[in-house]
Amino acid sequence: MRARPTDPKPIHVVGGGLSGSEAAWQIARRGVPVVLHEMRPDRSTAVHKSGQFAELVCSNSFRSDDAEGSAIGLLHAEMRRLGSLVMCAADTHKLPAGGALAVDREGFAAAITAAIEHEPLIEIRREEIFEPPSDWDSVIVATGPLTSPALADAIRALTGETALAFFDAIAPIVHRDSIDFGITWFQSRYDKAGPAGSGADYINCPLTRAQYEAFVDALLTGEKIGFHDFEATPYFDGCLPIEVMAERGRETLRHGPMKPFGLTDPHRPAAKPYAVVQLRQDNKLGTLFNMVGFQTKLKHGEQVRIFRTIPGLAKAEFARLGGLHRNTFLNSPKLLDDTLRLKAMPRLRFAGQITGCEGYVESAAIGLLAGRFAAAERLGERPLLPPPSTAHGALIGHITGGHIETIESGPRSFQPMNINFGLFPPLGGGTARGAKKQALCARALANLDAWIGAALPHAAE
Ligand SMILES: Cc1cc2nc3c(=O)[nH]c(=O)nc-3n(C[C@H](O)[C@H](O)[C@H](O)COP(=O)(O)OP(=O)(O)OC[C@H]3O[C@@H](n4cnc5c(N)ncnc54)[C@H](O)[C@@H]3O)c2cc1C
Repeated sequence: MRARPTDPKPIHVVGGGLSGSEAAWQIARRGVPVVLHEMRPDRSTAVHKSGQFAELVCSNSFRSDDAEGSAIGLLHAEMRRLGSLVMCAADTHKLPAGGALAVDREGFAAAITAAIEHEPLIEIRREEIFEPPSDWDSVIVATGPLTSPALADAIRALTGETALAFFDAIAPIVHRDSIDFGITWFQSRYDKAGPAGSGADYINCPLTRAQYEAFVDALLTGEKIGFHDFEATPYFDGCLPIEVMAERGRETLRHGPMKPFGLTDPHRPAAKPYAVVQLRQDNKLGTLFNMVGFQTKLKHGEQVRIFRTIPGLAKAEFARLGGLHRNTFLNSPKLLDDTLRLKAMPRLRFAGQITGCEGYVESAAIGLLAGRFAAAERLGERPLLPPPSTAHGALIGHITGGHIETIESGPRSFQPMNINFGLFPPLGGGTARGAKKQALCARALANLDAWIGAALPHAAE
């Protein structure tokens, strides 16, 4: 579709990464002109190496492509149905990788760059944007986790936040239905209810002395990830990785995040646990729980191995593993409206990892939605949200509203997340555990198709 007779004003997209490229493409597909501003190659980030659009900065994997049993595979399938440029280029340049979708990174980025360069409705400007000028009435900021410092400062000033670039101290998040409630129990320390609690808000995993000692040994010897040069010194008080706490003394964790006080194990009331790992509800649906105080630089495989030794977590499924790395992202549930516009300045919309999603595919998916929302607005239509039961709906729900604010340490509790089934509204009863993922995927695709049919008449163009 080409520009309509009314000749709409262009939408400005800042950042030609995974999300900005997809956003620009989606806007053009609706017949609306776009100006895409990308600072590379003249000015680069600490990790990008080329001037190509949608450069993959690290792994070349888009993770599982199983649209019937994995949340990320479902997101792939939905994006294909929505005419995603990123998925089209990934499919064209895929490499053998078992059940995963891995891509030839050079071919992938070259295909996206060529598609954008050949799209007449997209004008490319190779320049750094320090602050979106006031006469740009519709802007998508898609500048990623390494947004240039000048723009990050401008955004921080607009949002009134004290910080925008963080060392994320990420604690692992576990699917509630993978926790063994024959071993764990719900209780808040000293049964305190607090402002929004019941007195039984935490899931508690009890450790004997021998289990605690073995756990500390595993932390001390487990393989850790180093920091990138650009990350400098990240630790701040109250947010030390658990393995660093363990290095400070064998009892440190027992007097910190693993303290056993104020808790009684109903399964064995006479035996006081030597240490306790607590998990706290992480999303409104109550399907995800985070391991309190368990930020870590252990390698992901090591986290799974070591954390599954914790009583009650032997079969834990992780929605997100822990980490500590530099990132730039907004406190989106507070700052953005449900179509990703900055509440304080609605002409600015955000997309990609800066909104609080994590991963190449998720960043592109949020770019896809931001592009469609901005184009609809420009065409005088009301942007319609994807159903919460779809992967797109679940992801944007996490960004704009699904998270529960629980700040106890560190700058904020909202953290970027990959798509995972814990973000989807649960199914009604009656679905066998083994069939749950398939049922969630089938429901998502059926609802997405209905949404495309009803709300997005141009999706197939
Ligand atoms: C070191 C590192 C490794 C990662 N590894 C992986 C991984 O292996 N797998 C994975 O799924 N995810 C990974 N991620 C997370 C994330 O998926 C990627 O960062 C992803 O590229 C985010 O997409 P985006 O579009 O939000 O940002 P980006 O793809 O980074 O795009 C942002 C673009 O904005 C441009 N830009 C920035 N500031 C300005 C400005 N002021 N004016 C104009 N242009 C500007 C940048 O040059 C860049 O092209 C990693 C992140 C980092 C930091």
